[in-house]
Amino acid sequence: MSTDVIVVGAGPTGLMLACELALAGVRTRVLERRTEPQRDSRALSLHPRSVELMDQRGLLDRFLPLGRTVPGWHFAGLRTQLDFSALDSRHGYTLFLAQARTEAILERRAHELGVEISRGHEVLGVRQDGDGVEVEVRAPGGGTETAHSLYAVGCDGGRSIVRQAAGIGFPGTDETLTGVLGDFAVVDPQPGALAAARAGGVIVAPLEGGVTRFVYLDPERIRVPAREPVSLEEFRTSLTRITGSDCGVAEPVWLSRFGNATRLAESYRSGRILLAGDAAHIHFPAAGQGLNTGLQDAMNLGWKLAAVVGGWAPPGLLDGYDGERRPVGRSVTENTEVQTLLAELTLVAQYR
Ligand SMILES: Cc1cc2nc3c(=O)[nH]c(=O)nc-3n(C[C@H](O)[C@H](O)[C@H](O)COP(=O)(O)OP(=O)(O)OC[C@H]3O[C@@H](n4cnc5c(N)ncnc54)[C@H](O)[C@@H]3O)c2cc1C
Repeated sequence: MSTDVIVVGAGPTGLMLACELALAGVRTRVLERRTEPQRDSRALSLHPRSVELMDQRGLLDRFLPLGRTVPGWHFAGLRTQLDFSALDSRHGYTLFLAQARTEAILERRAHELGVEISRGHEVLGVRQDGDGVEVEVRAPGGGTETAHSLYAVGCDGGRSIVRQAAGIGFPGTDETLTGVLGDFAVVDPQPGALAAARAGGVIVAPLEGGVTRFVYLDPERIRVPAREPVSLEEFRTSLTRITGSDCGVAEPVWLSRFGNATRLAESYRSGRILLAGDAAHIHFPAAGQGLNTGLQDAMNLGWKLAAVVGGWAPPGLLDGYDGERRPVGRSVTENTEVQTLLAELTLVAQYR
């Protein structure tokens, strides 16, 4: 089968885009370097607009039973929450659902729609000319192959090789602050410990299988670079400093440090190469917006690209993708910067 569009990356953005393209009859291939789906979940939240999109696509009954709805969400970790029930929407709530679940639902849907998903295929480079794109791929086993298509979309995350190959700049600011997350199989069963953690500004969330997630900013450790691994001992020490108790955390399933590097692609398109999701925008995960923004990029791009491939797009339609979605990316990067600053100021005031 010859391919119309190659999507690089089978994260939530790439999978959503593949579904949108296939739904419109576009022959789509996804190239993903991981051999297996990602088990750990960075994101836990689907906000109202993303839930509305799943509803429009008839997928909501696959999402809702697996998640938990909460009426709003925080802004900058402040006590007063955003009230999504005030929105003019049938879905004025946040759906609390692990990223791995979202990806599994979208991957299954993509298979149903006939998308070819090639795992274990790492993209090494992309070239384009007036007729199409050539994608250089390291295949399982180590050999390289060249894949051809009319268009390529980089949904390959913050370090996007597609963005680099297309020569699209990624201006912004470097990391100045980091937070830490930990998923634990064992937590002190006494509710007092968790209540103290919440009061200290720690986000505590139940995940599947009895696992509990903690997310915190430790004022004494926020300058530690994201690349430095987190140990269980550090985690317990930080929790104790913030809340007065280590909450009995044990058997970590995943420990991770994440930073606030903030960047926005200078364009979402260069000729036949486009960008979506984290490949186009990165920021601190304040209020959980990255995955949501990526899904909405994909929804905006899918039908436009399908129209161009199908030959029925009016002139300029594809440029509308950058025109409509880059301002959204800018607004998200700006609001996360504001939230990060507020959170840091609150921390300083709290621990002075
Ligand atoms: C601690 C934390 C919490 C978060 N919480 C939330 C939240 O609650 N809500 C929210 O909306 N967002 C949240 N986010 C952000 C969210 O996780 C990301 O925005 C989201 O994963 C972006 O999806 P993506 O598909 O664009 O990129 P990714 O998820 O990064 O997927 C990119 C894919 O491309 C593949 N890939 C990369 N390079 C290549 C290559 N060369 N060849 C082939 N494949 C390649 C990767 O293996 C990966 O599968 C959080 C982030 C962090 C760090």
